[in-house]
This record gives sequence, structure tokens and C-alpha cells, in this order.
Amino acid sequence: MAYAALNSTIAGLGSTATFSNVFDEVSKAAVDLNVAERLWASWYLWMQNDTIATGIMSFVMHELVYFGRSLPWIIIDAIPFFNKWKLQNTKVPTWREQWECAALVLISHCTVELPQIWLFHPIATYFGMEYGVPFPPAWKIAMQIVIFFILEDAWHYWFHRALHYGPLYKSIHKLHHTYSAPFGLAAEYASPIEVMLLGFGIVGCPIVWTLVTNDFHLVTMYLWIVLRLFQAIDAHSGYDFPWSLRHILPFWAGADHHDLHHERFIGNYASSFRWWDYCLDTEAGEAASKKRRERKLAEIRAKKAQ
Ligand SMILES: [Zn+2]
Ligand SMILES: [Zn+2]
Repeated sequence: MAYAALNSTIAGLGSTATFSNVFDEVSKAAVDLNVAERLWASWYLWMQNDTIATGIMSFVMHELVYFGRSLPWIIIDAIPFFNKWKLQNTKVPTWREQWECAALVLISHCTVELPQIWLFHPIATYFGMEYGVPFPPAWKIAMQIVIFFILEDAWHYWFHRALHYGPLYKSIHKLHHTYSAPFGLAAEYASPIEVMLLGFGIVGCPIVWTLVTNDFHLVTMYLWIVLRLFQAIDAHSGYDFPWSLRHILPFWAGADHHDLHHERFIGNYASSFRWWDYCLDTEAGEAASKKRRERKLAEIRAKKAQ
């Protein structure tokens, strides 16, 4: 349903209408919409400026999800009972470390990320992104998010691996490696260039998808961002529980994979999955190094035997 059609239903309310007035009118006019869709439509109709409406909603959602998802990890770090599942359990972050990290991340959100979040609406709608109601069917949202996870993981693998090249590491990526034992809040603790470069995989995949298929909705973008934030924060949490996703999906990277990257500074470059590091022999850790050593030795022996 286009907002222009719904706009006529609230035309009589005048400029002093509250959000709940608009919501009531929309509910009367569009009975076939569910509550989330009616709230969504009312927000855009009440704001009367789509770029600002999306900008505010995106920024607030990003902050709520980022700090909201980090909070359980802050609490878990403060409770000794959970220490048996911490991967580097002698390195529990201090309050001071967490506070300094949160402050830098917040500054980065308000300076580097805010313009990108704000520009997303005009750029994506220019390429054909939808943001009307009703929302797309759940199967389509799920399918697109799975595709973005796979594409973004490839982008992340190559650009993260490139960031470990000497001069790039020193000038850009070193900041993210401040914490050799990461914690949830450290997920976006990075230089502005890194935020832009790796963030482009997260925002660029849906934009390219829109360009190619002309079939993409903003609500899918939001769910993708929420899940990708969960992935990043959980990967930095430092905890590997028996019920962590990687024990159910063996190709899921999880904290076990990324914690080792922070501990060893080398290997395990992918974000969500294990396949790139496995196939290109860049896995981190003792077991992977042992395998590489054994293979090299076998090669030397084979050469000598010739
Ligand atoms: Zn790294
Ligand atoms: Zn990291």
C-alpha cells in the first residue's frame, strides 16, 4: 500500500496530530495490516519526511541492538560462574576497559556511522528499495538474509585478510586488535576506515541485491542488520557455551573462531562461516598449525625421495 493512499486517510487530522491519532486512523483504514505494519506505516505518515523517518529509526535501532546485545555479556563477565566457558578465561575485561571501549564505539557511531545510516535511505530507494506496507513474506526475508550472510562473509574474509597486510594493519586494523581477549562491546571498536571498508559488505550487499533483482524491502534490511550485529557481538563475546550455535551448525564461526583470531593475530579472517578459512588454509590455532607443519614435512620427504 502506498503512503500516498494512506495519507488521504489522515488528511483531516491536521499538523497537531499525535502518533496515536495517526495509528488509530491507519488501523481503521487498513484492517488487513498486522500491528507491526500499522505501526510502521503510522511512523512514516506521522513523520511526513521519509528520509528523516528512516534515519531516526535506523540510528535508534542500531544503538538499542548494539548496546542491548552487549549488556548480557557485560553481566556474564561480572559473574564468576560463567568463567568456565570463557575461551581465554584468565583475561576477563575490567570495568575501565569496557567503559573506554563503549565510549569510543559511541563516538564512532555518532560521527562515522551516522552519515552512512542517514544516507542509506536516499541511496537504497534510488536503486529501488521498497519501504511501504505490507511487508514481504517471511520466506523471502529469510532467503535474502541467508544470501547476505554468505556474500558478506566473503567480502569480510578478503578485506579483513588484506587488513592484516603489514602497512594496512599498522595504520588501520591495529586498533581493533587492542583487545587480545575480546568482549561483546569490542565488536565495532575499530578505525573509521575499517568501519567503512568492512561495513560496506554489510550495507553494499543489499544495495547490489536491489540493483540486480529490484526486489528488496527496508524491513529485510533491519532484520539483516540486527542478526549481523548479534553475530558480531557474540563472536567477540569470548564465550563458547555447549549450546552455542557453532555446535549445532558446524560451519558457523562463532566466538570460538574469532576469539582465536584476536588471541593469535593471524588466521580465521571470515566473519560468519568457517569455509573460507578452511578452504584457503588460513585457519588459526594449534591444530591447524600442526596440520600445516605435517603437510610441509610430508612434501619435503616426498621431494627427498624423488
Ligand atoms: Zn583482524
Ligand atoms: Zn574482532
